Amino acid sequence: MFFQLKKNVSDANKLLETNQLVTLTWGNVSEIDKDLNVIGIKPSGIPYSQLKPEHIVIVNLDGQIIDGDLNPSSDLETHLYLYNKFPTIKGITHTHSSYATSFAQSGISIPPLGTTHADHFYGSIPITRKLSDNEILYNYERNTGRVIYEIFSDLNIMPQDIPGVLVNQHGPFTWGKSALDSLENAIALEEVAKMTFNAKLLSNNFEAINQTLLDKHFLRKNGARATY
Ligand SMILES: [Zn+2]
Repeated sequence: MFFQLKKNVSDANKLLETNQLVTLTWGNVSEIDKDLNVIGIKPSGIPYSQLKPEHIVIVNLDGQIIDGDLNPSSDLETHLYLYNKFPTIKGITHTHSSYATSFAQSGISIPPLGTTHADHFYGSIPITRKLSDNEILYNYERNTGRVIYEIFSDLNIMPQDIPGVLVNQHGPFTWGKSALDSLENAIALEEVAKMTFNAKLLSNNFEAINQTLLDKHFLRKNGARATY
């Protein structure tokens, strides 16, 4: 059962490694099936190279295992929280990719400096606040989802406009229309973080791109009248 969902999630998780977004097992991808109200997520501890569709853990929206012999990723509660709060998203990717995590660990958001950024993200990629001691000690993974939702609410950002975030002192989460789409946004986020890092090395004097160029690139790809 759930074969297509398991295959989508397995394929996307394997792409984490082939796209060099993960070291060891520091990353996970999930996808939600809105008809069946279930989520497929990577099991914890299985190397990406050995991952098969039958390893994928199927849980209901409360996180109870419906199908699978292995334990789900320890980040499951963060995924569940985000699916609940962002009902338009259908896939989530979490990594500790180097450049995006460098920004997360520095507590710095990623401004839109060029059209590569604007093709995927309609503005700065936000950084969450740090978690409090209590938030770390109790329901840590759920509270990680909570600070993500909080920053999107505070800044009035729609999750489909900026499909990614930096969790302070942790790393990036991205999302999308499917597991694969969230994975592609994780690739884009890492590349944009790398370019911004390099721009900061080359100059102290750069500016974010103007709204016209940001609109042009994001809306032609993602707007209601997207041209490709
Ligand atoms: Zn993590």
